[in-house]
Amino acid sequence: MESYRELVIRPMKESHQKSETGLYIHYPFCQQKCCYCHFASSLFERELHQKWLAAIRGEIQKAAASFSDYVVIDTVYLGGGTPSLLTPEEVGELLASVRQNFDTQLNEVTLEVNPTAEVERIGDWLQTGVSRFSFGAQSFDPVVLRVLGRDHTPEQTRLLVEAAHRAGADNIGLDLMIGVPGESPRSLEVNLEALAELRPEHVSVYLMEELENVPFRKIWEKDPVSEERAAETYETYRFSLEDRGWFQYEISNFASYGYECQHNLKYWKYQPFLGMGPAASSHLSNFRWTNPTGLDDWLVFLDTGKPGFSEFVELTPEEEVRECLASRLRLKEGISLEELAWRFPEVDFSAYELKIKRLLDDGLLQINDGRVRIPSEKFLVSNSIISELIY
Ligand code: SF4
Repeated sequence: MESYRELVIRPMKESHQKSETGLYIHYPFCQQKCCYCHFASSLFERELHQKWLAAIRGEIQKAAASFSDYVVIDTVYLGGGTPSLLTPEEVGELLASVRQNFDTQLNEVTLEVNPTAEVERIGDWLQTGVSRFSFGAQSFDPVVLRVLGRDHTPEQTRLLVEAAHRAGADNIGLDLMIGVPGESPRSLEVNLEALAELRPEHVSVYLMEELENVPFRKIWEKDPVSEERAAETYETYRFSLEDRGWFQYEISNFASYGYECQHNLKYWKYQPFLGMGPAASSHLSNFRWTNPTGLDDWLVFLDTGKPGFSEFVELTPEEEVRECLASRLRLKEGISLEELAWRFPEVDFSAYELKIKRLLDDGLLQINDGRVRIPSEKFLVSNSIISELIY
């Protein structure tokens, strides 16, 4: 029986060029488990960290043995969890392992950094080849940080960003969480003041959601943020950031021109990516799969080669079109219908044409120069617009 890697490679063999592919590496440990978090992460333990390090190198080698003839890795994203718990030496070794095993033309290497990270590490991470930092600021309002139960202060984020600038980092992203109980107009003010002072190249603004099965639910139930208030907050950020020179390019993401996150654009543009580590997803040719979520299950999967994926899907061209539309419409630039038809020549688009016309008439889609997009003021209802289009 064919292994899953042989299955994935089969269509790739027909293409005569390597595809530019992003590589996501998931580090699954944190110093504390935040009460609102639904990411795959558990508490840091030195022994588990060492196991992960050995295993991820093995996974990079195994994946490269199958896929390196067909891909060129051009972005790396170290996410988590808290990958800033990796020392500069460990990050350097991981990147060396990627370079040794794959053909690479790295034009972006992102490291997610928790504001509790040691300031002294910043310059050393840059030396290893990290070219972009994404700081999990969440907020510069201490009240909001307290509600979120974060273990850092606004001052720690400031010190890290300043240290990164001093060390020569020229691609810095700050993540903010909005729509949090306890947020006030003052929260917006202090966040905008901090952004003006720190001038990151990239700002992500995440609206708090998906609170099922996390302890934060109890806090939320005592002081819920209504949909209207959350929408108002999101719109205020959208306008305020654009006014100050960070242009929206995706529902939650804003950047100075030329500083859009190249790795994340691969997800939204429906381009290939490989994921390593527990719970990491991959999408190559017409296959999409997700590694086992738990550390132990992932270690067994690597040891035995038994997939045990939480998901492994071979997509039909029709399914690919649906997924492509769903992810591309998150981008402000939308999607070119001509490009879609060229990419999936076997798909009949007539049903889409009718739905697009209806959504255009209702003002839920716009069309310019052959590109269909969701108007920015409708981004908050993008899920229902996309569902209407693709189902
Ligand atoms: S630091 Fe980030 S990944 Fe870790 S528990 Fe908190 S929110 Fe989740």
